Amino acid sequence: MGPRVLVLGGGLAGLSTAHALLAQRPDADVLVLEARPGVGGNVRTLHREGCTVEMGPDAFMTMPGHAEALCEALGLGDTLLSPDAASSRVMVAHRGELLPLPEGMAMGVPRNMMQLAGTRLLSPLGKARAAMDLVLPARHEPDESVGHLVGRRFGREVKERMVEPIVSGIYGADVDELDAAVVMPMFANVRGSLIRALTRAPRPAGGPGMRAPSNGLDSVVNALAASVGADRILSGVIARSLTRRGEGWSVSLDDGARLHADEVVLAVPPGAAAELLAAEVPELSDLLRGFRLRSALTAVLAFERSEFTSPLASGALIPRNAPAPLDVLGALTFVDRKWPSRVAGHLSVVRATFRPSAAAEFIPRSDDAIIALALEALRMMLPLPEPRWHAVERFETGTPSPVVGHMRRAAEARERALSLGGISLVGAAVDGPGIAGCVRGANLAAGQIAGRFSSASRVA
Ligand SMILES: Cc1cc2nc3c(=O)[nH]c(=O)nc-3n(C[C@H](O)[C@H](O)[C@H](O)COP(=O)(O)OP(=O)(O)OC[C@H]3O[C@@H](n4cnc5c(N)ncnc54)[C@H](O)[C@@H]3O)c2cc1C
Repeated sequence: MGPRVLVLGGGLAGLSTAHALLAQRPDADVLVLEARPGVGGNVRTLHREGCTVEMGPDAFMTMPGHAEALCEALGLGDTLLSPDAASSRVMVAHRGELLPLPEGMAMGVPRNMMQLAGTRLLSPLGKARAAMDLVLPARHEPDESVGHLVGRRFGREVKERMVEPIVSGIYGADVDELDAAVVMPMFANVRGSLIRALTRAPRPAGGPGMRAPSNGLDSVVNALAASVGADRILSGVIARSLTRRGEGWSVSLDDGARLHADEVVLAVPPGAAAELLAAEVPELSDLLRGFRLRSALTAVLAFERSEFTSPLASGALIPRNAPAPLDVLGALTFVDRKWPSRVAGHLSVVRATFRPSAAAEFIPRSDDAIIALALEALRMMLPLPEPRWHAVERFETGTPSPVVGHMRRAAEARERALSLGGISLVGAAVDGPGIAGCVRGANLAAGQIAGRFSSASRVA
């Protein structure tokens, strides 16, 4: 029998770690413990009336390529879809209208001034200020926020009307707090013009950088769970604490049971990892507690297509200074436009993601209250009838937001965990906020665990 490995958390990071470890060490005695009744974590795919709608993550980035490679390995490669090119436009709510965001920008940063020339999102003065990016002196500011970087190069309008809606929508924090090094790594070593830096950089080949299986991201979860094996997954079990036991570790569960292992993989959100480590490793626990966490709330509304047709765009972004109650929403996805093959022909489906501050406030309310608020907000821009059906999903566990200082904290946490011997940290807090980073981190952790045991057995 190989090493005994407990994986705490059955989200994509935990399942991917178990899968990658078993691929390298089929003899490993792996057990995944998951608190919820089922695995998948944030991945929550709704299948209803011929539609496949993601209530949590919608797709993964193709860079780095680890998520795509995982799908290939799981036999899902042929099912991967890219968002529909014909409706790839993204709109921005601006003074009661939905205006198109200029195409081809990088996180809302223009690649050339021509992209800004025709847009009604910026005033003439705003465009003139944006052009100053080309002439402003070079400067480097360590630990800079996205808002500060974009504001000083392009001015307030580009920051508030283009960059903020995209970036806050994706990362769920204030643009003035998000770490530019994480959110815009392409500018990491740029001191001068961001436009010139983008012009020099090669454009990513291969079209849109997001992909997802045609039947939804839950097909990745199901395939991972099948590959790991039902007998190696225990759901509905909460891990409570972690203590050293000889060369290994002991995990106490909520039912009072204790499990022992050579290695423990912490694939839970950082708040839960902090709880688990609080008694045995308080310094690491404190470090994990310091990650900025956010709640998320999504509302999905399906309409008869004969009564409402989605705009010809993949979605829309709501700037934070939009009028109330529109300002409770961060982003909309027009699901039937973005993923036409996933929505029944007679329906238009709109997915609304709440801004994190509003999510925290509205999560305790009833589904009916949340849907009523979403409808009231959406009707400020779209002529919506009563929905045919609706759904609400709450994400209370605390998704990390990469605010300034996040990378340093993540690196320190990973290093401290490594120095303990037998503890690996994986998941969105330490491996990057998206699925692709989580899969990369899972592969890395699995390789390190397998490596530790092959060198240990050589020594023995
Ligand atoms: C609304 C939303 C939209 C998103 N959109 C995208 C997107 O489009 N693209 C993208 O790449 N990423 C997106 N993300 C981020 C993505 O969901 C995460 O990067 C990824 O799913 C994180 O996986 P994970 O396994 O690290 O964590 P989780 O999915 O949070 O899994 C952690 C698991 O640990 C379990 N757990 C917690 N405590 C314990 C305990 N004490 N004992 C046992 N189990 C425990 C939890 O129940 C959970 O199942 C989105 C996130 C949200 C919330």
